Amino acid sequence: MAVMIKDVQPGSLAEKAGIRSGQMLVEINGHQVEDVLDYQFYIHDEKLSLIIKESSGKTRHISFHKAFEADLGIELPEIRPRACQNKCIFCFVDQLPAQVRKSLRFKDEDYRLSFLRGNYITMTDLSEKEIDRIIRQRLSPLYISVHSTDEDVRRRLLGRRETANITEMISKLAKGGIRLHCQLVVCPGINDGHILWKSVEDLSRFFPAVQSVAVVPVGLTGHRDSLSKIKPVGPEQARVLIQEGEVWHACFRRRFGQGFIYLADEIFLMGRKDLPPTEYYDGFPQLENGVGMVRHFMDEFERRQATYPARLHLPRSITLITGSASASLIRDVVVKRLSQMENLEVELVVVQNRFLGGGISVSGLLAGSDILEALRENLPRGTVILPPDCLNAEGLFLDDLSVADLEGELGVEIKSTPGNQPFQSIEKVWS
Ligand code: SF4
Repeated sequence: MAVMIKDVQPGSLAEKAGIRSGQMLVEINGHQVEDVLDYQFYIHDEKLSLIIKESSGKTRHISFHKAFEADLGIELPEIRPRACQNKCIFCFVDQLPAQVRKSLRFKDEDYRLSFLRGNYITMTDLSEKEIDRIIRQRLSPLYISVHSTDEDVRRRLLGRRETANITEMISKLAKGGIRLHCQLVVCPGINDGHILWKSVEDLSRFFPAVQSVAVVPVGLTGHRDSLSKIKPVGPEQARVLIQEGEVWHACFRRRFGQGFIYLADEIFLMGRKDLPPTEYYDGFPQLENGVGMVRHFMDEFERRQATYPARLHLPRSITLITGSASASLIRDVVVKRLSQMENLEVELVVVQNRFLGGGISVSGLLAGSDILEALRENLPRGTVILPPDCLNAEGLFLDDLSVADLEGELGVEIKSTPGNQPFQSIEKVWS
């Protein structure tokens, strides 16, 4: 086992020792190096002994004496994710239309990406060796798709005949000092009702190792013809989940000093209930999972809007794009406040997600083609501002269209919105 060195920083200890890109990093202090996480873990010693394999096949032993925090300047490639072996009956990847970006078709299940990026894993194929590594290298926190602690129900959901016992896996990691954030994707008639709350109760026995449990409604697109029939979570069930969830949340808050179980934003939006206050989320441990994202967005808007000018020097128009799930909130809070600014005209275009279809209504999953269609019907007068996170790092929508494609078709300026700065594009209009 070894990793090919991608780059070596100029002037670094590694470069001075003659280490070059293309060579293989085999060992650090007697430990085999499998990936960048091994590298980051083992280079913190002050005395280092590396085995490097050159392209000729010759191996070299190189020793370093360095300060504890000093880096060697070796850059390793990004982790290549391992493929998922599950066949979850609700897997979102299986429900994507043919035109979707190819990279979105890859199903990853990799504890390393759970640690590095917060990807959820089921741990179904985690070996003892990998569990040992997680504990030894303190790869914490991890994000776990539990779905149910009832093993039969879990196997049915994951589409597997055999799965490692999730409670035992969690117990091992908890004893090893690893912190976990878990999610339960609710599939009505399968893991809801008493099975859901029993799972929450089972997981609560591992607090504080299990730090939070998110309850998330199953996402169903309109591309499920050849897949198992699954009922969506509807408004009535959302209201029941909110009611029951409040009782559990309050109970955990008394016991643990934090709410422990948190419902996804979609459940509150579907149940047409007010979003909980900021305190409900205890620091937003599962924000990227759509748990508290709307509250966080609204809090940020509330904080920033106080600094907005009363009047723009020149008349400007903007068109905000949103999915239907959060349309009323955006209209009642953001559009209403921005419209108070003199010389600023604000329009809101609510886009239906025809690309994914089904009940998908969140803004982050809007396709370029749907936005294009909606804007053709409501020709924008000024700058169009996209919702946060509907583009990937390369600036592409789910369907591979780019902002430039839309601008070319419509002849208008379109601004993207980074997820970590959701008001940046709006504020640029007057700054
Ligand atoms: S674990 Fe995730 S990626 Fe794998 S099949 Fe299930 S839902 Fe899909």
